[in-house]
Amino acid sequence: MARLKTIICIDRDGTLIYDDKYHLGRTNGWKKLIKILPSVVTNLKQLRKIPNVAIYMITNQPGVAVKDWPLLTEDRAHKVCQHILRLFEEKGFTFDGYFLCGHANPAYMKRRPNRTYIKSRVCNCGCVKPRLGMIFKTLKAEGVQRKDVRLFVIGDRYSDVKTALNAKGTGIHIPFKNEKEQQRKMETLKKNKNVYFARDFKDAVKFIVKKRYRND
Ligand SMILES: [Mg+2]
Ligand SMILES: [Zn+2]
Repeated sequence: MARLKTIICIDRDGTLIYDDKYHLGRTNGWKKLIKILPSVVTNLKQLRKIPNVAIYMITNQPGVAVKDWPLLTEDRAHKVCQHILRLFEEKGFTFDGYFLCGHANPAYMKRRPNRTYIKSRVCNCGCVKPRLGMIFKTLKAEGVQRKDVRLFVIGDRYSDVKTALNAKGTGIHIPFKNEKEQQRKMETLKKNKNVYFARDFKDAVKFIVKKRYRND
């Protein structure tokens, strides 16, 4: 068995599935809005071949904190995640688990002043990416310590990549929609050797497989 465990945490919206600012679960009929992005399943299966690997989905779901969307409760957000994991399972890939953050921080609220919020869910929680709460939960679920893990985080946003860097892991960016704000922020990481700018999901997986063997 490989000495180090490889843990790969993958963002949900815009990385595993199509994201059209749905805030899945906000409306009834959310199931039919779920679209797995091309080549994701095939390439997840490649990741699974890495010895001693664990693969998790981690997702910020600040919509849970939005009062205007009463259907999107934390329970509903979990149901959405579980359903997504089931869809992958039907296609032959099983995640080791998932974690979600159902909070909005004051900065998120400030950027979207037209919505009303559930006060108790607006906080500076420790689980929202790029903070490390969900990474710690992953380590705990795997029964390992950070020093015994090679960590990768894959995502379409700066906050996903920052999560990896904050955990002293490797961040992999896969652009989804080329939002200017995201591009501008990613630009600041251009020279960071712990960041990989992937063209697509396949490229991200290829990078991980290569890096993993180089360092083992
Ligand atoms: Mg995303
Ligand atoms: Zn949180």
